[in-house]
Amino acid sequence: MLRIALPNKGRLSQEARELFTDAGLEIRAAGPRALTASLGGEFQALFVRAQDIPEFVADGAADAGVTGFDLIQESGRAVDMLADLEFGRCRLAIAAKEDSGVVALEDIGAGMRVATVFPRITRQFFAERGAEVEVVPVSGAAEIAPHIGIADVIVDLVSTGSTLRVNGLREIATVLESTSRLISTPAVRADAVRARALDELVGALSSVLAARGKRYVMANVPRSRLEEVKRVVPGLNGPTVIDIMNGGEHVAVHSVVNAATIYRTIADLKALGAEGILVTRIERLMP
Ligand code: AMP
Repeated sequence: MLRIALPNKGRLSQEARELFTDAGLEIRAAGPRALTASLGGEFQALFVRAQDIPEFVADGAADAGVTGFDLIQESGRAVDMLADLEFGRCRLAIAAKEDSGVVALEDIGAGMRVATVFPRITRQFFAERGAEVEVVPVSGAAEIAPHIGIADVIVDLVSTGSTLRVNGLREIATVLESTSRLISTPAVRADAVRARALDELVGALSSVLAARGKRYVMANVPRSRLEEVKRVVPGLNGPTVIDIMNGGEHVAVHSVVNAATIYRTIADLKALGAEGILVTRIERLMP
C-alpha cells in the first residue's frame, strides 16, 4: 500500500482531487470528513493540513504527498520533489504600505520588522542579503500588521494581488515562486515494491498534466496542400495522414497540438482549405 498525504482543505485540496480523479485515482471516501480514503489499487489517501504534509512525508507517516513548494521550503525538511503538479500557483512576496517610503528591496534595512506566516523562508531571504531585519511570525492575516504597527513590511502569498491592493499594500519584490509538488523520500525509493507504485503514480499524474495543455485535431485537407499542413500541425512525430476512400482530393490529418494556440491552428488549417475540422481533449499523453 502506498500512502499519499493530500491537503484536506484550502486552495490545494480541490485541484489535487481533480488531478487524481483525472489520473484514474478516484477518491473513494466513506464520508466528507473521512481522514483516509482508498484511491483504488494499491493507493491510499490520508487527508491532512497542507502545511503538515512535508513533515508527514519526511517522517515516513506517508510515503508520498502533495503540497505547495512554499510549504515544503518553510518546513525545512528534506524531501524529494518528484513532479511539479502546476496548480496552486502563487508567489511569496514582500509588500509595504502604499504610503510608506519603502518602494524597493534596498529600502528594507536593519531593525525593520517583517510580519509573515513564513518565518524560516523570510529569515533566510534577508540573511542572504545581509539585511538584519526582525521577523515577526504571525499565524495568518499578515496584511493587517503594517496598519496596526506591529511590522513595517510583510512577506505573504500573492496570487492575483487583489488582497494586497484592498489592504493598501504595494508589492515590492518576490521571495519565491510556488506551485504544488508531488514529494516523497529516498527511503520509499529504496523499497522495490513502493518504488514501482511511486513510478506508476508519477507516470499517471504526469500524463494527465501533459494532456491538459494539448488537443487532438482532425481535419480533411487537400492532398496538394499536405506540406503546408504539416507545418501547421507538426504533431509529436509528424501528423498521421489517412486516405479517405471516396476518390476525392482530400486526405484526413490527425495531430496533437498546443491547446493555447488552437484558435490559430484552426484558422491556419481553414486557410489551407481544410474541412470537417474536429478538436477533442486528450485524457492522457505519454510522449
Ligand atoms: P490574491 O488576493 O489573489 O493575491 O490572493 C492572496 C490571498 O490568498 C492571500 O491571503 C494568500 O495567503 C492566499 N493565497 C493565494 N494563493 C495561494 C496559494 N496557492 N496557497 C495558499 N494561499 C494562497
